[in-house]
Amino acid sequence: STQIQLASRPRGWPTHENFRTVSVELPELSDGEIRVANEFISVDPYMRGRMNEGRSYIPPFELDETMTGGAVGRVVESLSEDHPVGAVVLHDQGWRDIAQGPARQFRVVAELEGVPNSAHLGILGTTGLTAYVGLMHIAKFRSGDSVFVSGAAGSVGSAVGQIARLGGASKVIGSAGSADKVATAVERYGFDAALNYREGPVRKLLREYFGDQDGEGIDVYFDNVGGDHLEAALDLMNDEGRIANCGAISSYNATERTPGPDNLWLMITRRLTMQGFTINKQMGHYNEFITKVGPWVASGELVFDETVVEGIDNTVDAFLALMKGANVGKMVVKV
Ligand code: NDP
Repeated sequence: STQIQLASRPRGWPTHENFRTVSVELPELSDGEIRVANEFISVDPYMRGRMNEGRSYIPPFELDETMTGGAVGRVVESLSEDHPVGAVVLHDQGWRDIAQGPARQFRVVAELEGVPNSAHLGILGTTGLTAYVGLMHIAKFRSGDSVFVSGAAGSVGSAVGQIARLGGASKVIGSAGSADKVATAVERYGFDAALNYREGPVRKLLREYFGDQDGEGIDVYFDNVGGDHLEAALDLMNDEGRIANCGAISSYNATERTPGPDNLWLMITRRLTMQGFTINKQMGHYNEFITKVGPWVASGELVFDETVVEGIDNTVDAFLALMKGANVGKMVVKV
């Protein structure tokens, strides 16, 4: 099996030097085990955090061990009745072409007509769930709310914008890093408008869409970026507004600490709620999510995009490109 390992821990932006590709001889299957040919491998921003040492909500990747992460594949050999050859399974042994182990580590998923199996890594999987839970349960979105979403052309952000619109938001504004992404957010994901944060300070650009007065501002900010975006959103929050702290990708590769928001005091005067969440502690909402969002995906009311990079040898490139913004929608590797 071809596998990609963590060779060293990066400081700042990761490079190819931090990874190593190895060929591993796999043992015969034991009773209850299965072997899976991976079809799609997920690369995600949270993996950057796991390349660092230190305390976090999930343990760091181990040096000289094969990386892990979401993957979908097809069972090619099975010593488990519940996981027959040919079944499609979702599991955590990404960054390799062949996965194997006890069947209980692999969840059989449905093959849906017109929906690629890779959707289980995106809209029907963790990133879709993150969008739904973050908006509905963390930010406590209600019909009529005005919403701002950063990372609007990404996997989570594109779903957040659409769920807010389908849920009756009064206004949904996004931000993204290119003119093309801004156009996609508006034309394809139905954002009312979006800003390109590379065109100026977000703090200034966002004022085109939200006013200073209570009632003209933001009720819900879904934060995928942190830093400048969080600061800009705080300026324009309505009283009793809610912020879901989902991600802070603007700082994941920073080598220096950046000064924090200079307007955190607005949390007090506007009686805001700001709550962080990690999706691994929110799995209890999965059934509600799939019941609500599954039919929107099936009917095409909620669309999703993928940026598919071909070939396991390009997994590291895909991961690095993800953090530079090369993706629209979910970034996946086709093995
Ligand atoms: P995306 O598909 O959104 O891909 C990452 C995007 O981040 C890039 O395409 C890029 O788009 C954008 N980006 C990179 N650097 C910056 C920057 N300095 N400022 C603004 N945008 C930047 O990834 P996901 O949808 O998978 O994840 C989105 C966020 O949600 C991440 O922060 C991630 O860590 C977080 N997350 C949190 C979870 C949780 O449990 N809390 C679970 C899943 C994701 P652009 O071209 O627009 O810059």
